[in-house]
Amino acid sequence: PGSKFDRDKGVNVQVLLRCRPLSEEETRMNTPVVISCNEHRREVSAVQNIANKQIDRTFMFDKVFGPTSKQKDLFEQAISPIVHEVLEGYNCTIFAYGQTGTGKTYTMEGGRKAKNGDFASDAGVIPRAVRQIFDTLEAQCAEYSMKVTFLELYNEEITDLLALDESRFSDDKSKKPIALMEDGKGGVFVRGLEEEVVYTASEIYKILDKGSTKRRTAETLLNKQSSRSHSIFSITIHIKECTPEGEEMIKCGKLNLVDLAGSENISRSGARDVSKVFHISGTYNPLLLSVLTPPKGRAREAGEINKSLLTLGRVINALVEHSGHIPYRDSKLTRLLRDSLGGKTKTCIIATISPSIYCLEETLSTLDYAHRAK
Ligand code: ADP
Ligand code: MG
Repeated sequence: PGSKFDRDKGVNVQVLLRCRPLSEEETRMNTPVVISCNEHRREVSAVQNIANKQIDRTFMFDKVFGPTSKQKDLFEQAISPIVHEVLEGYNCTIFAYGQTGTGKTYTMEGGRKAKNGDFASDAGVIPRAVRQIFDTLEAQCAEYSMKVTFLELYNEEITDLLALDESRFSDDKSKKPIALMEDGKGGVFVRGLEEEVVYTASEIYKILDKGSTKRRTAETLLNKQSSRSHSIFSITIHIKECTPEGEEMIKCGKLNLVDLAGSENISRSGARDVSKVFHISGTYNPLLLSVLTPPKGRAREAGEINKSLLTLGRVINALVEHSGHIPYRDSKLTRLLRDSLGGKTKTCIIATISPSIYCLEETLSTLDYAHRAK
């Protein structure tokens, strides 16, 4: 079968699968591996015998990137064509979806620190996309303008990662309200969101650093919030062009790069945060898992994360199946991305998994979700 990312078919959702390698710690502890990737056949298999239960399932994706895959390869093979579409005037969205600890942030951001003007080899999708955009525009000597926004969606509330105020960490009630507003033409805009106009790639890197640092600070202060929040980094580009008739035209493209909340929040309504158990105990303890219950006050949170991830899945399925009703309105995440999902747009989901036996249950649920989103 051909790729789903095929203009002729009019289906513009592509699903990639990436499996991270075992960590040093996991390797030291001889963690059994239950995932095998066949990049050539674009297949991922989960095989395991537990007691008398045999698990043996194979899933196919548009592209598969195994544990030894490099950031550069993933970008060049899967993302670069999408960035090209953005410069042609498409709105495109790239999602990282998966359990906490499987490599969503690594894949999207990676190591970003530039050494003597070049990237670290583990630079992720975002810095590479930024570089491609500027390189292309500069090579074309195009006249263009660009602006970026960086926000976090947590508990159906929007935080501006570019705003300087740190009011989220205090009880300051005077903080600037950020609201999702309908523009009356079927679109939405975020009132109060900072938009930074940028002229160079290094300006964008600085902005990204600022935003991610803010996100990480929040993570420490607010008990690993980032695993339960979605972050959306958006670049909007206007390019001035001349038609063969000498008419001036403005081409507008947008790229959204979305690091989704950990998918463990979806499968069991956040009742058990597997990653946390691992961090505490270091080893898999099914008993510990089964006695964990969500701390009070998390109920709403789990529900809201659920809502965004589930709605996203439904929206993408509805788009792929060309069904009449697309339930954009059912969550803030899908309302925010509405102008970039469906119609003349391209969507790419990078599903991330761990090869470890201890993640198998989550891995299967990620494979199921990502597989259905096709
Ligand atoms: P997530 O954002 O999904 O919670 P992270 O991106 O923080 O996960 O990844 C968890 C850890 O695994 C990090 O230390 C990261 O550097 C490492 N990691 C993830 N994916 C890879 C990969 N493909 N290759 C090497 N290390 C990886
Ligand atoms: Mg992360």
